[in-house]
Amino acid sequence: MTENCIFCRIISGGAATELLYQDAQVTAFRDRTPAAPVHVLIVPNRHIPSLSDTAESDEALLGHILTVASRVAREMNIAESGYRVVANTGPNAGQTVFHLHFHLMGGQPLGGLRR
Ligand code: AMP
Repeated sequence: MTENCIFCRIISGGAATELLYQDAQVTAFRDRTPAAPVHVLIVPNRHIPSLSDTAESDEALLGHILTVASRVAREMNIAESGYRVVANTGPNAGQTVFHLHFHLMGGQPLGGLRR
């Protein structure tokens, strides 16, 4: 738990945010400003600022986050229609919350990656 980190507060139950999934390693909850009909954030329970702060020892955790993303996608009924998983990392990607998180988005066509 890192003081002043909103995602750490959510993970520990200290914020009024419904948890969609939680286990010993990972928590999932809805993005408060959704960019798609389904927009869920999947985060490690341990405070890691960004993907750039992970190491080889985090490989199992990172793999687990993706399997949780797949599970949540099934539960949100977007597995068949498709979805996108994104981890904004650093200034050029527009990262605004510095607790590693993966956006899971779907529920409508998301467009291409090119601007
Ligand atoms: P990023 O730009 O990748 O750092 O994304 C941060 C995301 O966190 C944004 O989509 C915000 O809408 C979302 N967010 C920030 N604060 C909260 C919160 N308290 N509860 C849920 N989502 C949040």
